[in-house]
Amino acid sequence: MQLPKYKKKKRIKLKVCQEPGCGREFWGHPIAKYCELHRDIKQRQKQKKDIENIEAKNIIFRHNYTEVMDLPFKCCLEGCDDIFEIKVFPKQFVYPRFCVEHRNDFKRTNFLRIMRRKNREE
Ligand SMILES: [Zn+2]
Ligand SMILES: [Zn+2]
Repeated sequence: MQLPKYKKKKRIKLKVCQEPGCGREFWGHPIAKYCELHRDIKQRQKQKKDIENIEAKNIIFRHNYTEVMDLPFKCCLEGCDDIFEIKVFPKQFVYPRFCVEHRNDFKRTNFLRIMRRKNREE
């Protein structure tokens, strides 16, 4: 006996787009992840990369200041305790993660290498 190959009905469900920051609802297959816009892989990868870039070098600092403030921030690089001052602007929430010195990729890598060596010697 032969079974018909495609007997299954198309199951369409209301889904929510998985792209960070999108959250649009759309009708799609149960396995579908993205809305019509983000089904386009170009749209997706670009956005993802941008977000990763932002988070690698910045922190999201949520505040309610209504005027410009100078606030002390601590460098997020492991082993560096530098305190640096940042101008915090109203409604701006993305700020540098590292002290002035360590905003430079090369200097950051170099610093980590020196720290690792120091830890081994101790
Ligand atoms: Zn989407
Ligand atoms: Zn630092």
